[in-house]
Amino acid sequence: MEMLTIGVFAKACRLSPKALRLYDELDLLRPARVDPVTGYRYYAVGQLEQARLVAWLRRLGMPLAEIRTVCALEPAEAAREIRAYWARVEAETAVRRDLTAFLVDHLTAESRKDTTMLELRYSAHSDTGRVRPANQDTAYAGARLLAVADGYGPAGAPASSAAVEALKSLESAELPAGSVLNLLEDAVQGASRAVEDVAGGSGEVGTTLTALLWTGSRLALVHIGDSRAYLLRDGGLFRITHDHTVVQSMIDEGRLTPEEAAAHPQRALLLKSLGGEAPAAPDLKLQEARPGDRYLLCSDGLSGVVPDERIERLLSAAPAPDDAVRTLVDEANGAGGPDNVSCVVADVVEAQA
Ligand code: MN
Repeated sequence: MEMLTIGVFAKACRLSPKALRLYDELDLLRPARVDPVTGYRYYAVGQLEQARLVAWLRRLGMPLAEIRTVCALEPAEAAREIRAYWARVEAETAVRRDLTAFLVDHLTAESRKDTTMLELRYSAHSDTGRVRPANQDTAYAGARLLAVADGYGPAGAPASSAAVEALKSLESAELPAGSVLNLLEDAVQGASRAVEDVAGGSGEVGTTLTALLWTGSRLALVHIGDSRAYLLRDGGLFRITHDHTVVQSMIDEGRLTPEEAAAHPQRALLLKSLGGEAPAAPDLKLQEARPGDRYLLCSDGLSGVVPDERIERLLSAAPAPDDAVRTLVDEANGAGGPDNVSCVVADVVEAQA
């Protein structure tokens, strides 16, 4: 077997001798032979490919423990793992990007003068549906706060209502320009505690929460779970939340197609929720508001049975928020109404003098 010294091997695979010694200690890349007298490490030519893979994975920023897993796999399986790793990085980055935008906006808000006064026209409706014995959803709309929560477990109804109740303090709170983010975070922590009180640490009870807080010129979004927020703007429907579900993360990682996910028996399994076993932080995002914007918050009782294209058509056609929530709830029930269904619709309009 042709042996290479550590120096020659290092050059060939673009890892430093220092890194190679570390990877030896970590059991990631063992030399083919160590001279028993001098302690010099020697590598086989056949190890170059694996060493190059390690070098590239390091450049991706993959942690060493994951590299060890990937290196032990067959190429096709390794490729899947690498794709899954990157999907996780992108999901984490997206959350940080939204938070960054939030902070940048917050820090520049003082220098910006809003010329038009805007306000919300809103409506909320929650319905048991056609199959479930009780309604565990909570929907709320007020001048400042819009919220949908979808409770689960034996105390799902009190859990969703406790979460929304805790946010209602925002309706009357002072909203000083500088502290919207902190105010929101405090309110969400209050909601989380309220849900935990209801759940009593059982881990079986919890709720989703998707809410928008109106600041006078922008909307701050809080989101955890699989309820959704959509924006209808210039005739197009945009989903502005990411489902915290197991199937959504499998779609992100390329392990499942959206069609397979829609029929997946565990499609309702949540990765994050309030009251869930692992404490989880909601996504926070700031939305710029424009006159003519129409927002929709809904529980999965709507999005699970009514396709986005249909939601877009009905939401566009409804003259006012009242009509929109009624039509959308009817549509979900018309499709069988297998789950509780909640809709909140709010229009951004110029304030009447
Ligand atoms: Mn539901």
